[in-house]
Amino acid sequence: MSYIRCHKCDQHAAMRMKHHRLNLCAEHYIEYIQKQTLRSIKKYRMFTHSERVLVAVSGGKDSLALWDVLLTLGYQADGFYIDLGIDEGLGYSSKSRMMAEQFAQSKGARLTVIDFAGEYGLTIGELAKRTRRGTDKPCSVCGIAKRHTMNAVTQRGDYDVIATGHNLDDEAAVLFSNTLRWDTDMMMRQSPVLEAHHGMPRKVKPFFRFYERETAAYALLRGIDYIQDECPFAEGSRTIELKHLLNQLEDQSAGSKLNFYMNYLKAQEQKFFNRDKDEATRANLNRCLQCGQPTTAEGLCGFCRLLAQSQR
Ligand code: SF4
Ligand code: ZN
Repeated sequence: MSYIRCHKCDQHAAMRMKHHRLNLCAEHYIEYIQKQTLRSIKKYRMFTHSERVLVAVSGGKDSLALWDVLLTLGYQADGFYIDLGIDEGLGYSSKSRMMAEQFAQSKGARLTVIDFAGEYGLTIGELAKRTRRGTDKPCSVCGIAKRHTMNAVTQRGDYDVIATGHNLDDEAAVLFSNTLRWDTDMMMRQSPVLEAHHGMPRKVKPFFRFYERETAAYALLRGIDYIQDECPFAEGSRTIELKHLLNQLEDQSAGSKLNFYMNYLKAQEQKFFNRDKDEATRANLNRCLQCGQPTTAEGLCGFCRLLAQSQR
């Protein structure tokens, strides 16, 4: 029987990557993902072995796969999970928290869990309702709250860098969305590395070159148990629509997503917008009078304003 062979060892290929014209067996695929991640970390100077990395873990495939790779590569990587209290439907938060805790335990790794309601006195859903910011979906409030909590934990725990599991599909969808609106400020801020500023640590995305199916395959082949359901509020979101459109392009022409995003990064390096990326990130930022985190607003940051509104 004929089968597709691994390009390295002739074994049965477990993964086919059309865009790279590369087929690999399980063992060589795992090695490939780990080596390519190391390459991105070094090329983009994300962090070194002497720095402390905090991995934002959601319990999904990307963040757990990232944590797994960083631990395998010998980085000082701790995990961080925010329990948002989203337990509508199938108990999304409880399940994803369990996945994150199980993974940490299996690796003997340190995981900080923040229970959002315990910390701030209300769940994300309640915060959205009380501030009337999204009565059907709490996503806009949730984004602000997650960013704020992540910054606070990093500062408290004395970490040098926050690593998130964003993959190529996520990054291409954000770029697509920003491009459709020609939001050049947001475009300039999009990068695999955002340098530290205003007391905030560096933020990095070591998986930015991997397709979603590649991180999923890695998690599967490594036997990582992850939550397969999306957050119930993700359904029908604009990002999912854009991902769907990009998938159609990718089906017609393998490598479209990778080219779209990687060539954008090249254009950014060549100062396509005649501006410096870090300058754009820092421009017009003040410190929040309540929590000290950077904000474009004067006075309170978006999160502290939400909390104040919710208490009225
Ligand atoms: Fe938060 Fe869920 Fe919306 Fe994501 S989809 S921003 S986790 S509420
Ligand atoms: Zn604040």
